[in-house]
Amino acid sequence: MIIDSHTHYGIGTPWGSFSPEQILEIFGDSIDYAICSNLEGIEAVNLKSELDCNLDIIRVAKKYKKILPLAVCQVDKSLDNHVMRFLLTEYPQFLGLKFHPECEKLPANSSRYDKYLELAREFKKPCLYHSGNIKSRFSAPELIYEKAMQFPDVPIILGHLSTGQQDSHIEAIKIMLDSIEKESATLYCDTSWIDFGTGDMTDVIMLIEALRNTSKGDYTNRILWASDAFVGEFNQTNELYRKNLDNFKVKIGSYFQDDNLVNRLLYFNARDLYGL
Ligand SMILES: [Zn+2]
Repeated sequence: MIIDSHTHYGIGTPWGSFSPEQILEIFGDSIDYAICSNLEGIEAVNLKSELDCNLDIIRVAKKYKKILPLAVCQVDKSLDNHVMRFLLTEYPQFLGLKFHPECEKLPANSSRYDKYLELAREFKKPCLYHSGNIKSRFSAPELIYEKAMQFPDVPIILGHLSTGQQDSHIEAIKIMLDSIEKESATLYCDTSWIDFGTGDMTDVIMLIEALRNTSKGDYTNRILWASDAFVGEFNQTNELYRKNLDNFKVKIGSYFQDDNLVNRLLYFNARDLYGL
């Protein structure tokens, strides 16, 4: 079994236009489930409201069992959390919440996120954040960590770990280790984009090594394999998608010689986190 922990569909987005049917074509039979959010509620020519974009993915998920929905949060546009409360109450199939501080231009440590994180705590939903460059004033992992420390019992996923080069990844790994050692927050991360440039998995290996050998023991359960499809040209055809997945399996499998580890990254960690 394989779960892709970070995927999207959406028409008219800055990253392209892909309908649910088109992303399912990209996945083919490479994966069993895709944890997915609707980019039409994040950034699109015809931006949908928080209610509409999330009702849309509920319809999609009902039709296609492979799609497991996350609810997109429009923190900057909402005065309170009543729409999200309605969605989480009516549609328990939402696995978690999705935040994009970079698109919203709202720093991840802003108190405006609190009303949503309170809901995440109440409904026991993990939160997937777009985690940006360490220099970003909106989505730097440090800012996400600051907020995660205020909600230590809410699992917060650093989507892509952090964008940028190796220095950004090293910094984000330090943040994850700090949270584990101090038990100050419950941070997870996903592997999308980390080594997209080379495909050599150098930084993913560094991440796994670091979390496998923390002072508290093996914390590789905090790492989820993900593609971020359809964002990125390498995520936009069935052939490339499969090739990237196979590359991950081969490189991580041969480096660590540990099938259990690979299976946890590809499936069990996401299953356990989201209670699937
Ligand atoms: Zn995303």
